[in-house]
Amino acid sequence: MSADFGDNRPDLAAWWMPFTANRQFKADPRLLAAASGMYYRTVEGQEVLDGTSGLWCVNAGHGRAEIADAVRQQLMTLDFAPSFQMGHPIGFEFAQRLTKIAPAGMDRVFFTNSGSESVDTALKIAMAYHRARGEGQRTKLIGREKGYHGVGFGGLSVGGLVNNRRTFVTLPGVDHLPSTYDLTRNAFSRGLPAHGVEKADALEGLIALHGPETIAAVIVEPVAGSAGVLPPPVGYLARLREICDRHGILLIFDEVITGFGRVGAPFASQAFGVTPDLMTTAKGLTNGVIPMGAVFVKRGVHDAIVQGPEAAIEFFHGYTYSGHPVACAAGLAVLDIYAREDLFARGAAIAPLWEAALHSLHAQPHVIDIRNVGLMGAVELSPREGAPGARGYEVLVKALAAGLLVRATGDIIALSPPLIISEAQVGALVEILGGVLAGID
Ligand code: PMP
Repeated sequence: MSADFGDNRPDLAAWWMPFTANRQFKADPRLLAAASGMYYRTVEGQEVLDGTSGLWCVNAGHGRAEIADAVRQQLMTLDFAPSFQMGHPIGFEFAQRLTKIAPAGMDRVFFTNSGSESVDTALKIAMAYHRARGEGQRTKLIGREKGYHGVGFGGLSVGGLVNNRRTFVTLPGVDHLPSTYDLTRNAFSRGLPAHGVEKADALEGLIALHGPETIAAVIVEPVAGSAGVLPPPVGYLARLREICDRHGILLIFDEVITGFGRVGAPFASQAFGVTPDLMTTAKGLTNGVIPMGAVFVKRGVHDAIVQGPEAAIEFFHGYTYSGHPVACAAGLAVLDIYAREDLFARGAAIAPLWEAALHSLHAQPHVIDIRNVGLMGAVELSPREGAPGARGYEVLVKALAAGLLVRATGDIIALSPPLIISEAQVGALVEILGGVLAGID
């Protein structure tokens, strides 16, 4: 089947699309033409409820006029300015404003352009921190199986998704904690699963193996997102924190998805009561409308490098577009919306309804788990015999036809609607998904 785009049909050949089976997609393309509030509109004119905030990023909903106005005004005032050895007020203003919602003590901000860049930046900051303190041999990194930390060579190396890694060389000196995924004990948990805190103890084993004096940092997503929404077991993050502290190892939370209200507080570290040393963000930082990322850094880590013995060299790292003034303008307008509409609290307030609605799907065919935390959720299906991922993909296609955008990672249907979702829209989302699941064989 090929879609009918009327006179607007674009030639699909030239754009080599990311993380997409291009041949399959171009034989049966799905094109979004417009967006407003909670809805996309396809090129065919169909309204589609956004069940994924685009790609976990449009937390304040689509088509926000305040952001458009701020971007236009900034473009006409200061469209670009170098941030190497030069500055601009809006960059400092945005960083300062961000520290007001950051976890206590994380009041230094390094700007990037994406989640992947935030991760690679954080890993480098960790190494630079140890070197500045006379422990330059601490270069090893510990990630986690099933973790996703973007596609730079650093993030790829600490990440734990086999498909992303297998074609490429990765960094030496990297090891991985076991994933917390455990359907045997935790299937159909609501919120944080009860079992699995002991999985954090594997860190002690890795430290004993490599030697604590060689390890720079541990990086985890507080809620693993791309692996299919895996909330942390109760007590797990606190135990990682305790072990890292005991061995002088920095703890990095990758909050690219969980940041900016996704789990009921500005950041997951606040929602779960565990503060890392570094925190990577992107996505909701600008509501996804202008590419931007930010690494939040504990003041002590920042000061060790910036006030350290090599202060003249400091940190040889940065991007042409770090702190881009137009992205900062978008980000400031987004922070205003988050504050004015109290969206982080709104997300938290609707989360119980979200949980109940999602778990009402438990009796649908093929459902082997439902997971949720904040305004994230996942419905996991058993794989079809000999065709893993086929069922998930079929749900994606059929949900879209029925007016709902979901994300399929293998046979896991992931959901993360904008924080502006209404109770009625939660109901509509689950009703559409339930109808689709009922018709899958
Ligand atoms: N870290 C996490 C936890 C992510 O979910 C993602 C993207 N989904 C990234 C890093 C990479 O972000 P980007 O695609 O902006 O590079």
